[in-house]
Amino acid sequence: MIDHYAVIGHPIEHSKSPQIHAAFARQTGEHLEYGRILGRLDDFAEDVRHFVAEGGRGLNVTVPFKEQAWQLLADRSDRAEAAGAVNTILVLDGGLLRGDNTDGVGLVRDLTVNHGFDFAGKRVLLLGAGGAARGVLRPLLDAGPAALVVANRTTSKALDLAGHAGAAVQGCGLEDLSGRCGADGPFDLIINATSSGLDGQVPVLPDDCLGAGGWVYDLLYGAVPTPFCRWGREHGAEKVLDGLGMLVEQAAESFLLWRGVRPDTAPVIAMLRGG
Ligand code: NDP
Repeated sequence: MIDHYAVIGHPIEHSKSPQIHAAFARQTGEHLEYGRILGRLDDFAEDVRHFVAEGGRGLNVTVPFKEQAWQLLADRSDRAEAAGAVNTILVLDGGLLRGDNTDGVGLVRDLTVNHGFDFAGKRVLLLGAGGAARGVLRPLLDAGPAALVVANRTTSKALDLAGHAGAAVQGCGLEDLSGRCGADGPFDLIINATSSGLDGQVPVLPDDCLGAGGWVYDLLYGAVPTPFCRWGREHGAEKVLDGLGMLVEQAAESFLLWRGVRPDTAPVIAMLRGG
């Protein structure tokens, strides 16, 4: 009997997860199949139940179902709880379901393990206050930066998100960053967790926001440099990274949860970049 896994989302054809998990399975010798499911917008819960009833062992959950998955599952990991979203479902013995979230740890591993970023003493700016920002905030805080600021176009959402994270995180509007950069110094790492790049835009930031030797990271990725990656180059970033590494790292963390073995991500990232 082969174990079945899948990614569920809507739309789903574009998902790279089947390719990533097939590569992990080949590399580790794990015997599994990984497919894609076009989830129904009005019946996500039934699609999950059907997959499990057919013997499915685990699911990745993507847009727009991560929050619905969180609501569906009573048993959730601490990191899923903090994110308010589930991107990984584990089918336990007896068909019980457990929800986890590997997005944030995927981002932090890409920065620290793949690229050698050291959070100690660093000032980090997180742009955005939507689902992706919420998912990565706690793991970023756990990585131990000197300061973590969340800035969003709609200020109230940044304040709300930061408020839930505790005193170590400050929230503000994008327009407040001029004063903040001036008062507290520029940032060592700016992470773009907004969806602005999907419209070919970048969040409006002051020019002095990124410090000398600073890095930029865009959660978005694509065949060509994203608008925010281009912004980073234009503003002298020492390193400019897109979210492909995060995508592969969150998948590796899911694979580890399901199979108990952590795949080597470097060759899979290289494969996806066409290297
Ligand atoms: P949401 O729709 O939940 O949130 C969108 C956020 O972007 C909001 O904070 C919104 O601000 C902000 N925003 C949108 N347009 C602009 C703009 N022009 N200027 C400034 N801010 C803007 O989206 P998600 O959080 O789910 O996704 C965000 C991004 O993260 C997407 O590009 C997605 O592809 C990427 N992502 C990548 C992953 C990976 O593995 N690499 C994993 C998950 C997400 P406001 O509140 O004011 O509307």
